[in-house]
Amino acid sequence: MVGQPTVVPPLMKSLSLLFTCCLIVPVCAVSAPIAARQLRAGAAVVDITPTEFPQNMPGGFAGNMATKAHDPLHARALVLDDGTTKLALVVVDNLGLGPDLLDEAKSIAAGSTGLPVENMLVSSTHTHTGPSWGPKNGSNRQQLVTGIAESIVKAFGGLQPAAIGASSHPLPDEVFNRRWYLKQGKMPLNPFGKLDSVKMNPGNDPNVLDHPAGPTDPDISVISVQTLKKKPLALYANYSLHYVGGLPKGEMSADYFGEFARVAPSRFGADETFVAMMSNGTSGDINNIPFNVIRPPREPFEQIRIVAQKAADTAWFAFRKIEKHRTDVSLGMVQRKVDLVYRRPSEEQVAEASQIVALKDKDALEKLPLLAQNYARNVIAAANRPEEKLTVQIQAIRIGDLAVCGVPFETFVQTGLELKKRSPFPQTIVVGLANGRHGYLPTPEQHKLGGYETWLGTNYVQEDASSILTEQLLEMLGELKADESTSR
Ligand SMILES: [Zn+2]
Repeated sequence: MVGQPTVVPPLMKSLSLLFTCCLIVPVCAVSAPIAARQLRAGAAVVDITPTEFPQNMPGGFAGNMATKAHDPLHARALVLDDGTTKLALVVVDNLGLGPDLLDEAKSIAAGSTGLPVENMLVSSTHTHTGPSWGPKNGSNRQQLVTGIAESIVKAFGGLQPAAIGASSHPLPDEVFNRRWYLKQGKMPLNPFGKLDSVKMNPGNDPNVLDHPAGPTDPDISVISVQTLKKKPLALYANYSLHYVGGLPKGEMSADYFGEFARVAPSRFGADETFVAMMSNGTSGDINNIPFNVIRPPREPFEQIRIVAQKAADTAWFAFRKIEKHRTDVSLGMVQRKVDLVYRRPSEEQVAEASQIVALKDKDALEKLPLLAQNYARNVIAAANRPEEKLTVQIQAIRIGDLAVCGVPFETFVQTGLELKKRSPFPQTIVVGLANGRHGYLPTPEQHKLGGYETWLGTNYVQEDASSILTEQLLEMLGELKADESTSR
């Protein structure tokens, strides 16, 4: 078929150089890259468990001091190389690392490996029992920067010929949409003294609960990597579940993400060199609380074990659906920086907030709705914010027929489902809390319903931000798809 005009399609428009090459030496043109392509992969784990205690764990409304670690925390990296493009997928046990820390880690890793920083997708698991990393926690910060960089460098150092496959399988019974409509007259006032249409974490009372305000995404997606002799090398999984929790008080933990990584090797007959990692999907409105289901009481850490075991089983079922691990996949990765406008409160909202913050009278304070003063302070902070815009990084990756998107927010499940549905790739994974954490990202429809995730101070950016990012990501996926057809 070489030399037939049909093998030189219009896609060559942007590849005039290659086109010229085709005309001169037809045999080199389209078939050579595939024959020459051999995927290489490397994976590594670095322990990032803090060594100094006690220390605060952000992730709840109240302070939670950890006196020790229940289980270790890690940075886990998978590096892929198709001979042309190299990229890294990294999962870090943390509530949500900011772009400044991640950019620092990426540039260290880039310096040692030559991997471009734009080709590194580093996401946080969103364990609510991880350490703080802000400027006040100097040693944690440095440990995280070094640990993340080291995981990439080590994975890069272990690159070897490999084969890769991807699939998914549902685990519907551990994900629940946590935003609910309540029965008439049951909605409490929100911190601003208004009534929302839906409530987050509404409890389990059938007299109060009406119906959930959104869907769930039940799928566990997996990327499986093997050596050429079919030895399991790494597994990158993704599930849209906020976290599990239910730990002994004051203990740090990697939650079910860490427990999944611990039990996964047994499912795949893997040895200690195997690296499994569970990334967070689009779980801004999804958690593990069974609002409409009766669940027996659990001992501390038990529910984490249960979810992790079921997730590992499900990952194995997904793995079994992979028809063939391929060695000749083409990789691609694009990153965009997108400017989003910060939400601003109205003058009226600022005036109300100032009055609430100024309240000192005990009786008046007791009459305020829950968290009223906290959110009043958030409103004032939003009004005084000097910056108008927030620049966020979004990424899209092509691994053969699989696409991976990275979104730096606690992304709502609707956004993940929409991206999966409209993606030009047969399978798409959407990773939340990737390359930063900028609060919740409700869809415009969910913004209209109100509720915790939409409140100013929990959410920071314009109400149509999720639509903007979705369209941008779809464009990026389109680019990767078009680029794939030229590199086949
Ligand atoms: Zn959270």
